Amino acid sequence: MDYEHYFGKRIADLKAEGRYRIFADLERQRGRFPLALNHHRDGTTHEVVVWCSNDYLGMGQHEAVVAAAKEAADRCGAGAGGTRNISGTNHYHVLLEEEVAAWNNKDAALLFTSGYVANQTALSTLGATLPGCVIFSDELNHNSMIEGIRHSRAPKHIFRHNDPESLDEALSAYPRETPKLVAFESVYSMDGDIAPLAELCDVAERHGAMTFLDEVHAAGMYGAEGSGVAERDGVRDRITIIQGTLAKAVGVVGGYIAASAACVDYVRSFGPGFIFSSSPPPMVAAAALASIRYLRRHPELRDRHQERAATCKRRLREHGIPVLPSVSHIVPVMVGNAALCKQASDLLLEKHGIYVQPINYPTVPVGTERLRITPTPLHDDAMMDHLVGAMLSVWEELDLHKERVKAAE
Ligand SMILES: *Cc1c(COP(=O)(O)O)cnc(C)c1O
Repeated sequence: MDYEHYFGKRIADLKAEGRYRIFADLERQRGRFPLALNHHRDGTTHEVVVWCSNDYLGMGQHEAVVAAAKEAADRCGAGAGGTRNISGTNHYHVLLEEEVAAWNNKDAALLFTSGYVANQTALSTLGATLPGCVIFSDELNHNSMIEGIRHSRAPKHIFRHNDPESLDEALSAYPRETPKLVAFESVYSMDGDIAPLAELCDVAERHGAMTFLDEVHAAGMYGAEGSGVAERDGVRDRITIIQGTLAKAVGVVGGYIAASAACVDYVRSFGPGFIFSSSPPPMVAAAALASIRYLRRHPELRDRHQERAATCKRRLREHGIPVLPSVSHIVPVMVGNAALCKQASDLLLEKHGIYVQPINYPTVPVGTERLRITPTPLHDDAMMDHLVGAMLSVWEELDLHKERVKAAE
């Protein structure tokens, strides 16, 4: 086989479909978020306003977080030096696991190198090792859950998105004694909708099923101490396993599960993605620990975040920009075509210094390509004015779809 030819051809296909991915070459600057430098191929740089970061609260540059990372680097050096079992457990990992457990109101927690690995490992381990386990998965679940479920080789059923009735129907095909695991997310980050957690728990409990909740886009942002939507909705004790990331609102990197002591010990003891991978650097654990401690004590950051997102949605809608009906901090704007979505993103960047990455297939279905805007507490009114003006100008220039604006009250 002519391997090189094959690689090139498949890439050419992607380009023809308008969904070849080009990464913005950014240089973040501590203390200036959401501003960043954009490096161009010709060696020049421009300052841009980042409007699509998953550093939802700007914690990645927070003084307390950066100071903790520096202090730990000075004290411990760069790497952890091993897998958790073989010399790689540092005291910061232990403290962080205790903090994550307490934050989620669970007995125990377990760290992973990423949220992806946490989902993949926990789901594949449980699905593969619980005798006769059947898995039930929301149709819009993240790829990391899908891969974990697939890898488990357990029989699986897909239920309709955020639909407790559809879940009930699927669970009803099995006797109560069959071990079952129901996997879903709280905030779905491409549409910005939120799962009916209490109703899903009602159904799962009725059928004797365990629940696995991905709080990746909620951790840090919902609930009095910010552990997620399960905290906000008062259902944490009804969720068997809460999973989250340290890379989004927490602003660092890594993933976790929080659950009962026995369940966490089980995944710790049988999960290959945990056992066979080196432990994150102590400075990373120290930074995440400082971030979570701060987030628990600062609900005003979450209030400001929600206000910024609500204001952004309202202001774009006032001008007919088609914002999807998100009930979260995500502001998805529908374009509906891969090439146009890329053009809109390019124009925003080149003409207006605004960076919003286009979201195309396979992240979202073909025909629903969109711009996904994520306002943070650090996007001020002037930045918001600038964004709204730029979006309008791009919408005119590309003649993109607008919605009729309801008369102001
Ligand atoms: C980003 C994401 C993950 C993976 O988390 P990382 O820490 O980035 O690996 C898992 N689930 C969902 C829903 C995500 O969006």
